Amino acid sequence: MPPIAHIVSGIKDELTGYYPSNEIDSFIRILLEHFLQISTITAYLEPDKEINIQDEARIKTAVAGLKKYCPVQYITSEAFFYGLVFKVTPDVLIPRPETEELVHWVIHDIISNKTENPKILDIGCGSGCIAISLAANIPDAEVWAVDISKPALEITEENVKINRVCVHTVQADILSENIDVLFPETGFDVIVSNPPYVTLPEKQDMSANVLNYEPHRALFPLGDDPLVFYDRIAAFGAHRIKENGTIYFEINEHFPEETGNILTKHHYSDVNARKDIRNRWRMIRGSRMDIHPAS
Ligand code: GLN
Repeated sequence: MPPIAHIVSGIKDELTGYYPSNEIDSFIRILLEHFLQISTITAYLEPDKEINIQDEARIKTAVAGLKKYCPVQYITSEAFFYGLVFKVTPDVLIPRPETEELVHWVIHDIISNKTENPKILDIGCGSGCIAISLAANIPDAEVWAVDISKPALEITEENVKINRVCVHTVQADILSENIDVLFPETGFDVIVSNPPYVTLPEKQDMSANVLNYEPHRALFPLGDDPLVFYDRIAAFGAHRIKENGTIYFEINEHFPEETGNILTKHHYSDVNARKDIRNRWRMIRGSRMDIHPAS
C-alpha cells in the first residue's frame, strides 16, 4: 500500500505544467480531504501513513480529470457557498463567490427592514445555492425556486435535503408565454435571479474549465441578448412583487446602466447597482414603490 507522501508527490508531478503551484496545493488539500478524509497537516506529519489501493485509484481518476481541466467541484461533486455545502454536477453552474455577495445583500436588507415571513422567489435556481442560503439564514422565510431544467431542480431538491431547509421547487420557463399559468404564485417580498448573461465575445475569453464543463444554458442567454432575462423577469416581478418589495439581480459587469434602465422601464424605483469585491459591477436592486398594476 502506497504511503501518503507518495500520493502527494504523485499529484504534484502529474499536475505540474497544467496549473500554478498554489492551485495544485489547493487541489491536494481538496482531494485528500474528500477522498481520504485526511488533512494536509496529517499528510505532512505522518508521511508514511498507508493508503489503500482503492483510494489511490480514486485519486488517480480525479487527477486525470483535473488534467482535462474538469473543475474540481465536479470531481468531488461538492461546492461551498455562503458557509454551506452544495452538491454540484455538470447540470448546474458551480456557485461563484460573487453570488455570495448578492445573497449577502438580500439577507442584509431583509434583516434591516425587519420583513416578517418574507416570501422569496429565486428564478433560475441551478444548484439552489441562492434559495437555500436565503432559507438557511432567514428562518421565517417562505422560499420558492424555479428553473427550466429538471436535472437542475433535482440537484436543488437534493441540496434542500442536505442543508435541512424548506424550499418549494417549480419547473417553469420564465421566457415562456405561459409563465403565468405555469407559475401562478404571487405576492413576493423579494425576487432574486442570477440569469444567464455571458455574451458571445466574452465567451471567447472564458477558460476551458468553464466552457467545456459548465452548462451553457445557464451561462449564455438565447440569441446573445445579455438582457433578455432581465427584461422578462423585471416584467414578471412587476405584477408578482408586493408593494415595497424588491428585485435583485446578478448582472453582467459591462451592463449596469442598461440593466438599470430595464428596471426603470418596468417602474421599479430606488434602482441601484453595486460592485463586487473585485470592483466589478455585479449586482443591482430595484423596489416596487408604486402600486400601479403592471402592463
Ligand atoms: N459569473 C458567471 C461566470 O462568469 C456567469 C454567471 C451567469 O451567467 N449568470 O462564469
